[in-house]
Amino acid sequence: MSSKVAVFVDGCFWHACPVHYQAPKTRAEFWNEKRQRNRARDEAVNAQLIARGWIPLRVWEHDVKADVEAVACHIAELVRERSRER
Ligand SMILES: [Zn+2]
Repeated sequence: MSSKVAVFVDGCFWHACPVHYQAPKTRAEFWNEKRQRNRARDEAVNAQLIARGWIPLRVWEHDVKADVEAVACHIAELVRERSRER
């Protein structure tokens, strides 16, 4: 049976990671709007997934780079939990 876990790896720049995002020095207004649009899209995608019975799991690029095994374990744990619930 499907666990319906959707995994995203959010890039630190494109998804405006609170730890690493640094706004480009040029075209500040463009990048600020771009960052807000990306965030709004992420939230909309999450809401659509949840409405369809999925669990969106968003992982930061920096977490994958730092410890991919820990990220994989977290995903596996969530999938196991979800499989038990269903
Ligand atoms: Zn980051």
